[in-house]
Amino acid sequence: MARGTLAVRDLSVSYGRAVRALRGVSLDVPEGTVTAVLGANGAGKTTLLRAISGTLPFHRGAVDAGTVRLGDRPLTGLSPSAVVAAGVVQVPEGRRVFGRLTVEENLRAGALGARGRRSVDRAGAAESTAAARERVLELFPVLAKRARQRAGLLSGGEQQMLAIGRALMARPAVLLLDEPTLGLAPLMAERIAETIREINLQGTSLLVIEQNAALALELSSAAHVLEVGEVALHGPSAELAGSDEVRRRYLGVS
Ligand code: ATP
Repeated sequence: MARGTLAVRDLSVSYGRAVRALRGVSLDVPEGTVTAVLGANGAGKTTLLRAISGTLPFHRGAVDAGTVRLGDRPLTGLSPSAVVAAGVVQVPEGRRVFGRLTVEENLRAGALGARGRRSVDRAGAAESTAAARERVLELFPVLAKRARQRAGLLSGGEQQMLAIGRALMARPAVLLLDEPTLGLAPLMAERIAETIREINLQGTSLLVIEQNAALALELSSAAHVLEVGEVALHGPSAELAGSDEVRRRYLGVS
């Protein structure tokens, strides 16, 4: 699988003629890191992830310019499944799990994303799907307990765990997380944050979008602030956490 830095260069995206959601956005997710994107509602955060994963709404959203690469592999213009097969997997906002399927079935569906790689080495791929499942159940033991339950009956936090677990079943090099702690109680949000650290320690790079700026800056090594479709600020997260502007605008410190 391709590895290396996920590099977004000069990316511009519009919805129809009227809305220019991203204008010339560039950022890197260096291999092995957690990179965060902060920004107010409507700044373009979800659009950025969707442009990377190839999931812009096809009837309206379009990449007007720019490139996305993973290492030396161009991802721009690939179908969503080809992006997954290349190793970049998005966990959508709102934890869209398949509510009528069981937890186990959801996880199996996630493994289908790695199918592009199965033809190369059938036995090897099957083995790594089993290994991925084991890793997911170690990260989220509650999913093993609830394996036969319908996903729609899980709590919000458990659904988020399942959504992340399902994405991990595709054995991503880079995981894209859209607001992983949105709507969760603080304790559950902290648990999800711990898991993000653990996933990163196990070798997966992450691009995390968060409204909870304090949490995002704590989790990441570098961060980018999007404002009306442009990168207004970027730098090491520790530095941004100390910046007066970021503290005032995003951390609620006056
Ligand atoms: P939020 O946190 O509210 O999801 P965001 O930072 O993720 O905000 P986006 O959802 O990427 O922002 O939206 C960026 C801009 O594009 C906004 O002006 C939004 O209204 C617009 N937009 C998003 N999706 C569509 C769409 N399908 N059709 C038209 N405009 C859209």
